[in-house]
Amino acid sequence: MSDDRVVLVTGGNRGIGRAIAARFVANGDKVAVTARSGEGPEGTLTVRADVTDAASVDAAFTEVEEKLGPVTVVVANAGITKDTLLLRMTEDDFDSVVDTNLGGTFRVVKRASKGMLKARWGRVVLISSVVGLYGSAGQINYASSKAGLVGFARSLTRELGGRGITANVVAPGFIETEMTAELPEEKKAEYKKAIPAGRYASADEVAGVVAWLASDDAAYISGAVIPVDGGLGMGH
Ligand code: NDP
Repeated sequence: MSDDRVVLVTGGNRGIGRAIAARFVANGDKVAVTARSGEGPEGTLTVRADVTDAASVDAAFTEVEEKLGPVTVVVANAGITKDTLLLRMTEDDFDSVVDTNLGGTFRVVKRASKGMLKARWGRVVLISSVVGLYGSAGQINYASSKAGLVGFARSLTRELGGRGITANVVAPGFIETEMTAELPEEKKAEYKKAIPAGRYASADEVAGVVAWLASDDAAYISGAVIPVDGGLGMGH
């Protein structure tokens, strides 16, 4: 089954999602990415989707199914931050982050599960963050949404684990992308000091772990949280 896989990565036009999509292309898989803007890496099919909108997610899956076949590997990667301290955080700051990061995962994985159930095989990988379990001042919305993914993957494992489907969480630490480029320099230096590895990671270091979770070697791993954080969360 896993010889002719169709992989869908949300937010595959840049950052971590783009590196993940490129890794699956290099593995010889058929790969689609969702993007609101831009394009996925070479060798991918780009489809437009906003993960906050169920109809848009449904249309994207339909297009991928028509062009490549049913999706059996899904990587829920699209995510946003709107950082500020609790007292300054508006309802919209909270809702929009949770609706994109956790609600978006719900919409995407729900739609993907149809094809996986039919195939009796599937791989679900959710991109969380070290801060989901570590906590982070100024990120109550983001950390809540990322912690929610752990309960999501574990419940999904209990629902679909008997149908050849695994669901796991990857929790990256600090990765060199546009998201972290926005951080002030002194914050970046402070974070680096706290990371036992003493450096940030490349997006490709996350991609390798995602590809492994989707491989046959990881068939008996489900409901796990795999940190890719240079030791920052100490394995959580
Ligand atoms: P980027 O900001 O570089 O990319 C975010 C991606 O998400 C873009 O492709 C963006 O699409 C997409 N996206 C955002 N909102 C939506 C939406 N409503 N619908 C569809 N797509 C959307 O982020 P990173 O690559 O850094 O992060 C990717 C994931 O990894 C995120 O979930 C993030 O939380 C997580 N992560 C990142 C870390 C880091 O250090 N960078 C650390 C830990 C976790 P568009 O370009 O069209 O806006």
